[in-house]
Amino acid sequence: MPASILDGNKIASEIRSEVAAEVKALSAAGMRPGLAVVLVGRNPASEVYVRGKVKSSEEVGIYSEKHTPSEDVTTLELLDLIADLNRRDEIDGILIQLPLPPQVDSKKVLRAVDPAKDVDGFHPMNVGFLSTQRPGLVPCTPAGIMELLERSKIKTAGQEAVVVGRSDIVGKPMAMLLLNANATVTVGHSKTRDLPGVCRRADILVAAIGRAGMNRVTDPREFARLYAGNAKREETFRSKGSVLVGDVHSEVAEVAGAITPVPGGVGPLTIAMLMSNTVKAAKMRRGSRVAELSRV
Ligand code: NDP
Repeated sequence: MPASILDGNKIASEIRSEVAAEVKALSAAGMRPGLAVVLVGRNPASEVYVRGKVKSSEEVGIYSEKHTPSEDVTTLELLDLIADLNRRDEIDGILIQLPLPPQVDSKKVLRAVDPAKDVDGFHPMNVGFLSTQRPGLVPCTPAGIMELLERSKIKTAGQEAVVVGRSDIVGKPMAMLLLNANATVTVGHSKTRDLPGVCRRADILVAAIGRAGMNRVTDPREFARLYAGNAKREETFRSKGSVLVGDVHSEVAEVAGAITPVPGGVGPLTIAMLMSNTVKAAKMRRGSRVAELSRV
């Protein structure tokens, strides 16, 4: 049976409407959640990501502001900016868009963010909370993948999960989340022996290797199997004669029960989870004030 397609856009939009409702309730009580995004220099890819984050904040009603220090900013100047954002009560989330320029001590800068406002979940304190199963802020991409699994009713307990990639941002937190969800987790990386064999064992495979592994589908039958009924893809296939698919070989769809498409899989969930994390940060930091709200 062909793999069912996990629709990241649909699930992201469900999450965004839930977040918008929470933002509305908090705002009505004078606690509108706020997100500050710091974008250093003029990296075109980073500018696109930040634009998406600011636009999404506006859509769900989160207050957002953008700080754009120039490319030659010093570590000290960034630390001053973060200290100011840490102090401001109306700012619940602080996001430092990576990468930072080489003269900046990135680890020091990320560590300076108040863990309670660390909506990317990169601060060592949040990493510790995740690995000891305490409430905290979890990195957006792996948190989004967990939402995708849960909301698609894909069972994790007792399953063999293989995560390929061990970065601090995706691979490691992904492995920890799956472990916390009672999967049996293997983490593969560039030194793993027989990675294909390890991947074949997986009930759940998360490929996060950061290599351009994208494939182009040109065979109409294969296209039909993967994307039949997807009007947007059909239009692309008609006009260009091909479509792009993700890191994982398209033949995986022969054996997998379900698969995320590229685009429209995990990507949209990352920003939705940033919105969700900002609301979570607001609720956790303003804890007693939010508790009062739910009593009235
Ligand atoms: P990194 O480059 O930081 O990490 C890549 C990891 O993959 C490393 O652990 C590396 O192993 C491993 N790796 C690289 N090549 C191979 C290989 N040929 N075989 C086995 N393992 C390999 O990447 P990130 O974690 O930041 O990103 C991972 C992916 O997730 C990327 O595709 C990125 O585009 C995507 N991503 C998507 C986001 C979204 O919003 N959808 C957001 C963030 C990331 P080693 O440690 O041994 O070097």
